[in-house]
Amino acid sequence: MRIGNFRRWLSDERENPHRPPTNPQANRPRRSPVGPCYDPRMSVKDVLIIGAGPAGLATAISAKQRGLDYLVLEKGVLVNSIYGFPSNMVFFTTPELLEIGGVPFVSPFEKPTRLEALRYYRRIVDTFDLAIEFDRTVTSMTRDAGDEDAPFTLETLSERGERSAYRARAVVVAIGYYDHPNLLGVPGETLPHVSHYYKDAHSAYRKRVIVVGGKNSAAEVSLDLYRGGAKVTLVHRRAQLASSIKYWVKPDIENRIAEGTIAARFETDVVEIRPDAVVVKPIAGGPVEALPADAVFLMTGYHPDWEFLTAAGVSLDPHTRVPVYDPGTYETNVPNLFVAGGVVAGRDTAPIFIENGRFHGEAIVGVVSARLARQPVER
Ligand SMILES: Cc1cc2nc3c(=O)[nH]c(=O)nc-3n(C[C@H](O)[C@H](O)[C@H](O)COP(=O)(O)OP(=O)(O)OC[C@H]3O[C@@H](n4cnc5c(N)ncnc54)[C@H](O)[C@@H]3O)c2cc1C
Repeated sequence: MRIGNFRRWLSDERENPHRPPTNPQANRPRRSPVGPCYDPRMSVKDVLIIGAGPAGLATAISAKQRGLDYLVLEKGVLVNSIYGFPSNMVFFTTPELLEIGGVPFVSPFEKPTRLEALRYYRRIVDTFDLAIEFDRTVTSMTRDAGDEDAPFTLETLSERGERSAYRARAVVVAIGYYDHPNLLGVPGETLPHVSHYYKDAHSAYRKRVIVVGGKNSAAEVSLDLYRGGAKVTLVHRRAQLASSIKYWVKPDIENRIAEGTIAARFETDVVEIRPDAVVVKPIAGGPVEALPADAVFLMTGYHPDWEFLTAAGVSLDPHTRVPVYDPGTYETNVPNLFVAGGVVAGRDTAPIFIENGRFHGEAIVGVVSARLARQPVER
């Protein structure tokens, strides 16, 4: 799609009463787009999509179907978060609710596995021949000329330290939340035997393992470790496990705790992690206890990259940390900067999942292409 007068392209939209108020900081250039990768003659795409997760891919499909000049920039591999999930993970969602682009997700199981999802999303990219560049971590987003009509410049960094730059009139941030664990903030949290992520039980065979958390991940990880031959103790701040745990997992973990094959400490805080133990303390008071530990899994959830959003000028609710965006268009307080998928969540990531995040892109692309269509002149 060709456009020329970008200033006029935006003008109708500024009158939209539903758009959230613009953050005065939003359009100031935060960092000059300098360096060997930046060239002001570089072509300007209609839209850049950050993140090749389900939400970013659904956005890319819509952009392609509408004939937009788009590109997806992905820091890792395709659906990098799902790739990083526990190896034997099973979705709680039935296959059809993970579908994007109208392509059927066929599985022999009622709940698909991680491996099936990886294969499905690879097939999606092949089917639609989506434009994606992998190993491109977007490190900054700036506006070229410091005013809100100017295109965005995105800088990326590869694993090998190569820098690149891309320009676009609109940006969709679909970066999810899985890269940023909720930290306990206790001493020892960065020790090498401590992890906020879990793959499988084999390396913990015959080891003493502490799992911290009380939601689904903590329950599933505890059970998998126990069945893989680890000696597991679950530590949770509350009096009982979360009611939201998968209906087939909850009785399993509760029965293992009841029979004592998985030990549990409820209403207990972690106060320190040592190389050979986790120090815990009852919330109601009482003596601290050092639980012997060879490995520690802190399954305390994740959150979106708030720093990335605020550096781009996106305002966040001070309490919930939900970005300021228009619920109809997913446009943030920064004009032409949109959010899609898991990044829309604030502290509480539960309300956004693939089931609903997969529809955000379609709404966004509808807005972007309508704006472009108003000024269909040569670039
Ligand atoms: C263990 C677990 C089980 C789950 N089970 C289900 C389920 O059964 N059903 C369901 O609907 N949902 C489930 N969810 C939630 C679901 O995975 C997320 O809602 C979904 O992945 C969000 O999709 P997304 O595309 O917004 O983000 P993601 O899938 O997280 O994708 C974001 C992408 O952006 C990339 N990225 C991040 N930062 C940058 C950057 N700076 N530059 C470039 N790329 C970047 C990441 O590498 C990633 O590929 C589960 C989540 C977890 C953690």
